[in-house]
Amino acid sequence: MAYDFDLFVIGAGSGGVRAARFAAGFGAKVAVAESRYLGGTCVNVGCVPKKLLVYGAHVADELEQAAGFGWTLEEGHFDWGTLIANKNREIERLNGIYRNLLVNSGVTLLQGHARITGANEVDVDGQRYSAANILIATGGWPQVPDIPGKELAITSNEAFYLKALPRRVLVVGGGYIAVEFAGIFQGLGAATSLLYRGDLFLRGFDGSVRTHLKEELEKRGLDLQFNADIQRIDKLPDGSLKATLKDGRELVADCVFYATGRRPMLDNLGLENTGVELDERGYIRVDEQYQTTAPSILAIGDVIGRVQLTPVALAEGMAVARRLFKPEQYRPVDYQNIPTAVFSQPPIGTVGLTEEQALEAGHKVQIFESRFRAMKLTLTDIQEKTLMKLVVDADTDKVLGCHMVGPDAGEIVQGLGIALKAGATKQQFDDTIGVHPTAAEEFVTMRTVTR
Ligand code: FAD
Ligand code: NDP
Repeated sequence: MAYDFDLFVIGAGSGGVRAARFAAGFGAKVAVAESRYLGGTCVNVGCVPKKLLVYGAHVADELEQAAGFGWTLEEGHFDWGTLIANKNREIERLNGIYRNLLVNSGVTLLQGHARITGANEVDVDGQRYSAANILIATGGWPQVPDIPGKELAITSNEAFYLKALPRRVLVVGGGYIAVEFAGIFQGLGAATSLLYRGDLFLRGFDGSVRTHLKEELEKRGLDLQFNADIQRIDKLPDGSLKATLKDGRELVADCVFYATGRRPMLDNLGLENTGVELDERGYIRVDEQYQTTAPSILAIGDVIGRVQLTPVALAEGMAVARRLFKPEQYRPVDYQNIPTAVFSQPPIGTVGLTEEQALEAGHKVQIFESRFRAMKLTLTDIQEKTLMKLVVDADTDKVLGCHMVGPDAGEIVQGLGIALKAGATKQQFDDTIGVHPTAAEEFVTMRTVTR
């Protein structure tokens, strides 16, 4: 049977665009449907605008440090409207680039909501298309717990478009987004509290990293409240918001920002017309080649709930394009040793196993840990410490994990990711000549076992 398309991609986000472009490049007839914004979450309400706001907040650090280097500055003034307008302009530029990328690679771009109506059929706002393969790359959506007053809270989606910087913010959650946005709000001048339901935020990260970041954020005056869970939110007559915690305490703020995880975006997707099954967490179930339980339908990215990071969605998109249209070049995505950064202030960079994971996996571990005040701060009064940590297998000498909290951690850990992928040993780290004077050289000069 002749189909309209060889591949119909639903969602022009990180994964969908990558799969579509490469499939078209391999000679396939490809369509992409996008209901909201080209480039998806990462470009519009994720990585990119977030990083721009992080840069904006970081300027406060530079201003604080300036005096130590002899600069006298007039008192600075921050204007939220300017930052958001400039950010929006950059996002529009990127939307245009994504459009050109798709169109120039021969992909048919359909603007509208896609709904699957059969194993090989998709409806986009009333127009039906047939396709040999359908790829679901619809991403995720913020999830706010069902508490009274939840409609008064905002999520990252709205935070990027706030008309004004709130004076007082309660950030709820203890994952990537909560920690990053707490740094953004506080850095830009809002009185910020971070409320996390457990004992210590960033569950799953290395224990030293979690404790170190906690200490550094507290030094910066961020109000960290652990074992704090909001029971209800009410609007007060003056327009501010009152959050009542489960322990009875009441906190008042101008903005309550929830970052309590994301759910797969399956709204009105028509999965009931297919044999696509969900896993126990509600994400689309796929095999190792991203095929769902319906043979003609594949899924990648946040909607499959594996690792919710843009470079992972890109790698999965690439794998699908190759698997379908260039099988001789197919390589499975390697989910081991994925480097990642949390753009908190200071940022975290991490790759490989945490100390806790290494122990749990049965490794006999050697820990090398270093805490120091970065050279840049020696001419200032700032007492921030950088943390670097290596988790090493004592039997094989292989470096199992590298963890850092400090300036440029994300930049530094990218290179370490290659070393871990190549199976580097601690001896090879030691044999590597440092770049002097940098903070990064500490990773090749730690000689004394801490534990
Ligand atoms: P998405 O990029 O979400 O794209 C899905 C697209 O599908 C969307 O454009 C959506 O509109 C569209 N869509 C959905 N349903 C339909 C439908 N039925 N019809 C048509 N179109 C549809 N990752 C990093 O690696 N680094 C970071 O610094 C980072 N920061 C982040 C910050 C925030 C605040 C958030 C929320 C996420 C961040 N992420 C980051 C995660 C990253 O954005 C996601 O992992 C990535 O975007 C997932 O790509 P995807 O292709 O699966 O989905
Ligand atoms: P995360 O899954 O990272 O964190 C969710 C947080 O919310 C956890 O601390 C969790 O606590 C808490 N939580 C969950 N449910 C509730 C609840 N009902 N009440 C109170 N707290 C709750 O999600 P995020 O929203 O921060 O980010 C989503 C994903 O996007 C990330 O996991 C990451 O993959 C990606 N991302 C990547 C970034 C980067 O690369 N720099 C930046 C931003 C996002 P607990 O630990 O106790 O379950």
